[in-house]
Amino acid sequence: MKLKGDQQTSRALNRRLILNMIRADGPMSRAEMATRSGLSPAAVTFVVSELLNENILVEGEASLGAPGRRPIPIKINYAGRLVVGLKLMVGAIDCVLTDLATTPLVSRQVTVRDPSPQSTVEACATAVSKLLADRKAPAGAELSGIGIAVPGVIDQGVCRLSHRFNWVDVPIAAMLAELVHVPVWADDDTNAFALAQQLFGLGRHHRTVGALAIGAGISCAVVIDGAVHHGASGAAGKLGHSIYDPNGPPCECGRRGCLQTFFSEPALVRRWRDGKGISGAVTRHDMVDAARAGDEMAVHLLSEAGEGIGRFLGAFCNTVDPEVIVAGGEAVTFGDFLFEPMRRALERHAMWTPPPITPDWADDSWARGAAALATQRLFDFESRPGEIAVPAM
Ligand SMILES: [Zn+2]
Repeated sequence: MKLKGDQQTSRALNRRLILNMIRADGPMSRAEMATRSGLSPAAVTFVVSELLNENILVEGEASLGAPGRRPIPIKINYAGRLVVGLKLMVGAIDCVLTDLATTPLVSRQVTVRDPSPQSTVEACATAVSKLLADRKAPAGAELSGIGIAVPGVIDQGVCRLSHRFNWVDVPIAAMLAELVHVPVWADDDTNAFALAQQLFGLGRHHRTVGALAIGAGISCAVVIDGAVHHGASGAAGKLGHSIYDPNGPPCECGRRGCLQTFFSEPALVRRWRDGKGISGAVTRHDMVDAARAGDEMAVHLLSEAGEGIGRFLGAFCNTVDPEVIVAGGEAVTFGDFLFEPMRRALERHAMWTPPPITPDWADDSWARGAAALATQRLFDFESRPGEIAVPAM
């Protein structure tokens, strides 16, 4: 006789298996699900009925042409519910309302002058109301959850440390949930980016995906066997705080010469501007235009950055062995001036065949990453067998 707990666990595992199969490979019939998953047709029918009742799955149109009983494709009802993704940056929040596939429906950026936790969550709550007011979503679709992405060490919804905001032990998810009355999940912004890539982006058909972010800082994240790796305290992936030169400039973390003090996007632009003796404001776009026009200093700095980051990425690959590395952040603007030297350095420093480095050019990947935090938990996409199953919705 099976215990109730076992039945609940196997039900949760079967739901997860079927949802993930449809997410990765698209709509399919019940018979196809049984063949692919190895579950019995009765088990598939049971789980699918349950998910249809909950409006998480919907039946599609049977294909025309074939004689006899035509199989009905079952698909995920991505449009049935809404989530919001919030990406916190210094001075601003990127906000996006999406369906459950993190397809953007409404986006906006709000400015935040006061970086205190209370002001930040109030700005977030106001942004959520405005997004919902602006929505062009299907009637009846309800807001089911919010994901919030914060650069820092995030553990169980609590921001343990964020240098960028000067936060220590801020229960950011709970603070926002109190204002918006829907579940809120928080994670580091690069972890959220990696999760979105794994669920719906460039990493969709891989099990082990690396993400590299080069923006205001440098960090990496890794999805291992379908799950984002957080480490013991949520501090995994702080690649940019690896020391490149102990005599280098002071870093936001309080140490000297971290990789990101040399090669973050603002550091590169500043070094180029100072090197050229330009007095006015310049942007990465000016720098890449100069590189294209043959400016030796711009080309050299970007090559040095690619080489420097590539060396540390080699150590990352030797440790993690990802199938692919997706690169994001403002520095993707530098294109192959940055990535070609990085690929060459990775060839030299990786012991095994290095993975391809694939830049993600989409501007909205970061806010969508935040939305993916919510969608992942609502679908229970990521949890692995053996983890405690929480009812998906
Ligand atoms: Zn540092």
